[in-house]
Amino acid sequence: MSLIVQKFGGTSVRDAERVMNVAKIVTDTYAKGNDVVVVVSAQGDFTDVLVDKQEEINPNASRREKDMLLAAGEQISIALLAMAIEKLGYHAVSLLGWQAGFSTSSAHTSARIKNVDPSRIQAAIDKRNIVVVAGFQGISRFGDITTLGRGGSDTSAVAIAAAMNADLCQIYTDVEGVFTADPRKIPNAQKLKEISYDEMLELATMGAQVLNNRSVEMAKKYNIELEVLSSLTRVPGTIVKEKTRMEKMLISGVAKDNEVARISVVGVPNNPGFAFKLFSRLSKKNINVDIILQSIGHDGKKDISFTVAKDRGEEAVEALRGYVDDIGAKEILYDDNVAKVSIVGAGMESHAGVATKMFEALYDAQINIQMISTSEIKTSVLIEAKDADKAVAAIHEKFFG
Ligand code: ASP
Ligand code: MG
Repeated sequence: MSLIVQKFGGTSVRDAERVMNVAKIVTDTYAKGNDVVVVVSAQGDFTDVLVDKQEEINPNASRREKDMLLAAGEQISIALLAMAIEKLGYHAVSLLGWQAGFSTSSAHTSARIKNVDPSRIQAAIDKRNIVVVAGFQGISRFGDITTLGRGGSDTSAVAIAAAMNADLCQIYTDVEGVFTADPRKIPNAQKLKEISYDEMLELATMGAQVLNNRSVEMAKKYNIELEVLSSLTRVPGTIVKEKTRMEKMLISGVAKDNEVARISVVGVPNNPGFAFKLFSRLSKKNINVDIILQSIGHDGKKDISFTVAKDRGEEAVEALRGYVDDIGAKEILYDDNVAKVSIVGAGMESHAGVATKMFEALYDAQINIQMISTSEIKTSVLIEAKDADKAVAAIHEKFFG
């Protein structure tokens, strides 16, 4: 007998029909002799609806109250799913995050899971129940309801799988797995049979929206095998694990991220310590920097450019104002009309010319590259936002066409 954790996202439970469909998948798994723990998100875009309700009343509401509100979405879906399972003739118990043993930090709206004590889940399993757990939520040491940040229920599922040493963690969504590009935009995108944690992590961070990146980090840390698959078609999905056998593929995917902004500090003295001082101002504010480019100095000055997440852009510029004055730099330039397009693949390590092929695709499409960054398994370029879709299509065609 195996223990299987199955997670269903908002689209998979969006209405009564979809909830019954999920109940069918879950009970089929159970009927095959497995123990099943199910993690669910709020129905459809209900979490967004709740955010709108909050903003209507108080845009500056405290984070504690936001969590109290947002956590309600998952309370509805667990109860409905448990009822659907009962209707099919099986025993089910729904549990909120705190009942399921999720202790988190007290950083409301972006809490971190500290510990999962699965004793209550286990007790319910021992009584032959299918256990339905609210994703995305937990409780702080002060006894307050917390949420894990948008998209956090993937992480809830992986955390349960880790805490209970599950045999498999299935993440059900509305796509059939991880594709070489967004299948809604690139018709000949291919479904990957498997992908490594590292590649998946890069893709998740680079804007492929199948899995939340924290969930992949956690799966890697605890070596939990994930399967990403669709709740609408019953076909095998993509397995995410440590090592894969897909050496033949140069890259596993192309992804784009529109939520980036480029900042340049122009006229920085070309002496030691200035980059350190610049970036320490950002790290003090917890602002992550991605691509960094420094020009060759001339006349004792240089320029430092970098990208940050668009929603932290203004804050980053603010944080640097004093710096620019202190060091007598010329100016700060800000541009959020940019997008980052990345290729990811373990094949890059052992094959020369993978990045060149990407640049060639961009040249063929007459798209200008503003910045480039590379790692062992990833090459990213920063381009104008309007070219992003065209770039993804051109690069995908070059590698997979
Ligand atoms: N319902 C939450 C959200 O929409 C959590 C999740 O879906 O993972 O962000
Ligand atoms: Mg959701």
